[in-house]
Order: sequence, then C-alpha cells, then structure tokens
Amino acid sequence: MITVEQALEKVLSYVQVLDREEKPILECLGQVLDEDIYSPINVPPLDNAAMDGYALRAESTLGATESSPAFLDVIGEVSAGAISEQEVGALTALRIMTGAPLPKGADSVVRFEDTDEALRRERPLSHIGILCQVPKGLNVRRAGEDIAQGQLVLEKGTSLRPSEIGVLASIGKATVGVIRRPVVAILATGDELVEIDQPLPEGKIYNSNSFSIASQVLRYGGIPRILGIARDEVKEIEDKIKEALDSDMLVTSGGVSVGEYDLVKDVLAKMGDISFWTVRMKPGKPLAFGVIKGDMGRRVPHMGLPGNPVSSMITFELFARPAILKMMGKKNLSKPMVRAILEGRVENTDGRRIFARAMVRREGDRYFARLSGPQGSGILTSMARANGLVIVPEDVKIVKEGESVQVLMLDWTEE
Ligand code: AMP
Ligand code: MG
Repeated sequence: MITVEQALEKVLSYVQVLDREEKPILECLGQVLDEDIYSPINVPPLDNAAMDGYALRAESTLGATESSPAFLDVIGEVSAGAISEQEVGALTALRIMTGAPLPKGADSVVRFEDTDEALRRERPLSHIGILCQVPKGLNVRRAGEDIAQGQLVLEKGTSLRPSEIGVLASIGKATVGVIRRPVVAILATGDELVEIDQPLPEGKIYNSNSFSIASQVLRYGGIPRILGIARDEVKEIEDKIKEALDSDMLVTSGGVSVGEYDLVKDVLAKMGDISFWTVRMKPGKPLAFGVIKGDMGRRVPHMGLPGNPVSSMITFELFARPAILKMMGKKNLSKPMVRAILEGRVENTDGRRIFARAMVRREGDRYFARLSGPQGSGILTSMARANGLVIVPEDVKIVKEGESVQVLMLDWTEE
C-alpha cells in the first residue's frame, strides 16, 4: 500500500503543463496567463471628476463658507465621454459629471452638495455659490492613477479571475495568451451500466460516474469528453480507449479491483504502462495510473478510478484534480483545509486514511463538522449533502465527539 502523498506525487510526475492558446478574454476565466501583460495606455487616460459637481481652481474658493460663499460664473457643462473646449479661470467654474475629463485651468471638483445649486431656480445656471474652501486636487482622479502606460499589469502565471478579466478589458486587451484547458476523456466500464436516457432493465444500474466525473472536470477548468460505456469485454474496452488517444488525459471508472470481470487492467497493461496501487485511504483504495501509448510516440496519461460512485469522486478530488490543475499551469494544487470540531464520532478500523463525508458549518470563528449520512462508498447522496471531507489519519483509531479534526473543504457553501 502507498500513501495518498506518494500516489499524488506519482500522478503529478506523469502530467505536464500544456501549451498555449490565444483567445477572447471572456473564454479565459480560471486559466493561467502565458504572457506578461503591459499596458499600452494610462488608466484612467485623463484627469477626471470623481463626483458630479463643479470643476474649478482651488484658489477660487479661498475663505469660502456657507454664510460667505465664493461666487463664480458658470461657463458651461461637461458630461462623461465629452471633452470641454472651455478653460476655467480664477472667477469661473464648469458644471461637470463623474468621469468627465477635467477642463483646462481647473484643478479640483466641488460636489453639488457643497454648492448652492439646489437653491437656484434658473436653468442653465449662470452663477454658482461654493460653500466651502477646497484643497487642490479634491475629487479628481489622476490620469494613470490605476495603471500607468507601459506598466506591467499582470504577470505570466496569474490565474484569471473576474477582476483580472476586468483589468484586461480596462486596457483594451480583447484576446490573451493562456495555457489551454486539458481535454479529459471519460470512460465508464461495466456490463451492469445503462445510459441515463434508456429504460433500466432488471439487474442494471445507470451510469452515474461519467456525469459526476465530467462535472468535476468542468468545475476545475478542463473540457470533458464523455466516451460512454465499455462492456467488460477486451475488444470494447480497447476500442474505446483508442478514442481517447487525442485527449490530454483519460479517466476511466470501474474495472480496477480484483473481480473476475475487471478487464480494464489487462487491456491497459497491453496498451501502455500501468501501475496498480492500493492507496492507504478509504473510500477508494484501488487505483490505476499510467500512460496509454498511441501513434507517433503519443502518450496519454490515464487514471483508473474505482467504480464505486463515491470512491471515484473522492479519488478524482485527490488525484485527478491536481493533475488537471498542473496541466493548466496552476501553482496551488491543494484544496482549502479547515480545523473543525467533530460532532459525532468516526472509527478507523483498518489503518487507512479516512475521508468521511461531512457537513461543515461556521459559528463565529469556529468550524463544526457532522457526518452527512451513511459512509458506504456507493451512497452518493451523502456525498451530495457534504461540503467537506473529515480526515482521520492512518494511525488514529477513533475520533470522538468534540475532538478537533482536519477537514478538506469541497465547497464553502453550508447547505
Ligand atoms: P468495479 O470497480 O467495476 O468493481 O465497480 C464497483 C462498483 O461501482 C460496482 O457496484 C459497480 O456497479 C459500481 N459502478 C461502476 N461503474 C459505475 C458507474 N459508471 N456508475 C455507477 N456505478 C458504477
Ligand atoms: Mg466493473
């Protein structure tokens, strides 16, 4: 038996960072930048108003108060997107809207609330009273204060979140070079499996694994390619696996334990290099990993997950997810962990690392974890109710009510 860490290290040694693609920024969410991004422009491009109000010279308001305002001539108005031709002088002001470039001669903006505009009936205004003395630069956003022209805005290796996509848009970058998403082929194996849009004959079950696995692939940024079901027959498994040869990774489920009909192992041994591991964990201990060899030296990493629906999902989280993230060029491959107080108890009878499905909630600055239902590796609904996995180490026989446990968080939502 090997440890979870040893298994992960081997898996990661088989996968490489993928090549680059150039595409529209909105298709890049969650992908990793493959170039340094420098700004061709200042953001904002010009000094502009941070408030609706009056653009003027700070010195024109010297000594102004509510009872003794500074009166200025209003020489016009400028809205966002327009440029005023007028120049503000010592005795004048220009009505200005948020975002509009500051007119020549002005150095500050006084907001409407600090003027007597609301008391004046005439429109458009010819005069305005300023009710306070303003410091130079008040309510002015400086050209380049966010991004200076020529500045390195985003570094190669950055994961693109909505805010980074926004930054790219703000400098007019419509397409960008990123590490491409891996195409992950997904194959379910087993004579007992039926496609979900078919009637269910006696003795059969629906193929759920392809769907939970494909969703996990999508969630972590890959492109799932569902190959369907292969019966437990050498020819069928071989043919299906050949369809995966132009993918970046193949994930199969089922057929890797010691059952009589578990042929995936044999086929894989024939088509490539494969190792079978018994990982010291529960659920999900049988796991296969290797490469399938195609034409012209092509080698596709293959991960053979156990067939049990929960085991396949948890082994995916622990081993396939980091492999996908590595291919995408990500640096942080681990999911968040929290320390929680256990409500209930978990026993560890055979010295493996237990990943128990749990509902985790936060109260104040503490987390509490409670098992989400029966822990059989075929009980998918307790996985659906869980937002975390309580970890019981190999050498711990029992964790009791109220004891502190490490929890691997699957989601942050509590319901
Ligand atoms: P195996 O690893 O092939 O022995 O399968 C272990 C268990 O998982 C058996 O009860 C299978 O019926 C079940 N199983 C295998 N593949 C799937 C699948 N694609 N969807 C749902 N259950 C499956
Ligand atoms: Mg099977």
